[in-house]
Amino acid sequence: MGGPVRIVLYATDRQAAEAAARAAFDAVASVDATMSDYREDSELNRFSRLAGRGPQRISGPLLEVLEAAQRVSGLSDGAFDVTVGPVVALWRRAKKEGALPDPRALSDALAHTGWQKLRVDDRLGTATLSVEGMRLDLGGIAKGYACDRALAALREHGAPRALVDGNGDLAVGDPPPDRPFWRVQIAGEPDKVLRVARCGVATSGDTERFVEIGGRRFSHIVDPHTGLGLQTRSKVTVVAPDGMTADALATAVSVMGSDRGMAMAERLPGVAAWMRWNRGEVSESTQSSAFGNLLRRGDPEDRPRTSRE
Ligand code: AMP
Ligand code: MG
Repeated sequence: MGGPVRIVLYATDRQAAEAAARAAFDAVASVDATMSDYREDSELNRFSRLAGRGPQRISGPLLEVLEAAQRVSGLSDGAFDVTVGPVVALWRRAKKEGALPDPRALSDALAHTGWQKLRVDDRLGTATLSVEGMRLDLGGIAKGYACDRALAALREHGAPRALVDGNGDLAVGDPPPDRPFWRVQIAGEPDKVLRVARCGVATSGDTERFVEIGGRRFSHIVDPHTGLGLQTRSKVTVVAPDGMTADALATAVSVMGSDRGMAMAERLPGVAAWMRWNRGEVSESTQSSAFGNLLRRGDPEDRPRTSRE
């Protein structure tokens, strides 16, 4: 998960709370074991190793995440793309070695990237990577999914008034007793406090994760069309019907930039987006029309939770 997961929940007694929390953390661990690209034996990596060998049966959870990923790829015209594994691998190496990826290696990685080279068949329960050497990376979507699964586990254990914070990606359940909403602050943005319930909130950006080479700064988020890490510094927060969708859309909007990203957000039901970015020394920001409705209007008690990248 790349960081700690925090759960806030309301339950009738301590025992019920502990049982619910345990089930929720188990759900997170199970998603991590299935979808981590850092674990050689994850289902995700086993599937990637079968690239180029036709349709493979995959588990329900992996199927669900790959289908959602493909949906967001279509909506974002390929800005979001879980087949960026080979490109991300080159940038991880670049970071370690302090040198830009070799252009030939980069074009080879791009030849093994492209959401249209991934096929998902939910009826047969299979997925296909059409080119040998492809590699999936669910870093832009699986955290949100893990939070959703944790929230579902809490609900099943009688604790629907809960919030799961996967280190920047949140799954928000029913509000606390006697309150209409949870309050979530975008990290580093004191006046951006959202009033939300039953949704996902995700923040993507390059304030913390980037590589600096030769005076240029590249984000850990890459543009699948060029193979380059993003160079415009930005922070994007998306609210969506669930955590998985919010997570993927926040990454997508980061790549698309403000104009295309906000236009996409406006078209999607239940989605609100906000973005801040730097143009030279100047910081600019924009938001979709639904976002304003979520901002809190004076309401001073307890500290809000934060959504950070
Ligand atoms: P997030 O913090 O949710 O924006 O996800 C960033 C992570 O998603 C990166 O660390 C990569 O593992 C992966 N990633 C990078 N670029 C993309 C992209 N264009 N589409 C999908 N996933 C990406
Ligand atoms: Mg994301």
